Amino acid sequence: MRYNLTDKELGRINLTLSRTNTRIIGKWKSGEVHISAPMGTPLRLINQFIENNREWFNQLRPHGPMIPYHIGFTFKCLKCEIRITEQETHPGCLISESDGRGTFTIAAYPGIDLNQPHIRKIIRKHVLYYLKHQAEMELIPIAWNVAREYRLTPKNFKIGSGLQRLGLCSEHGEITLSCALMMLPPDLIRYVICHELAHLTQFNHSSAFHELLNKMLDGREVELKRQIDAFPWPIDR
Ligand SMILES: [Zn+2]
Repeated sequence: MRYNLTDKELGRINLTLSRTNTRIIGKWKSGEVHISAPMGTPLRLINQFIENNREWFNQLRPHGPMIPYHIGFTFKCLKCEIRITEQETHPGCLISESDGRGTFTIAAYPGIDLNQPHIRKIIRKHVLYYLKHQAEMELIPIAWNVAREYRLTPKNFKIGSGLQRLGLCSEHGEITLSCALMMLPPDLIRYVICHELAHLTQFNHSSAFHELLNKMLDGREVELKRQIDAFPWPIDR
């Protein structure tokens, strides 16, 4: 049996109830949320599942079209820059190099199609490896400064290499920030840090949580959320 639900944030939700399902499962498919559940699952449990997984759904939301790469492609990150250039010494290869002063170069042999999916995957891997290292140095001090500003004391900040979850706060108060934040402008980095810090007080996404977060962000929560959802990520997420 198929039903449609509407969620203010997630949009149309396609619900399938079937005897063959043994538990509730959700995923994104063709830009919409699909939930399957065992026959007879009460709507209350479906709604609870959506609430429990709201953050996950939001973070896994499919993103816009990919940005095409070309020789000379450059993108600025927090205190560093990524560049795609050309090299003629290693036939058929992509070579990456950090100059140690904030420029990371990926040099491709002429003729390599930078937009082939497997090449984009390699570029992504190189960029994330570099950004993870940079984030340990640059992002963690920023996060601690923001925490101090609000007199909050997370147990720890650490850097994750996942791209789908931008931030995560454990029930023990340990906050993981994705190295992908390095690609965001400062106020969006701050938005993600504040979101996770707000979880130290409100370990949920209740209206009290959003009220707190909005206060921390000087009333800009909705505006910043919109910006982050529309952000043109320079690597494939
Ligand atoms: Zn959250």
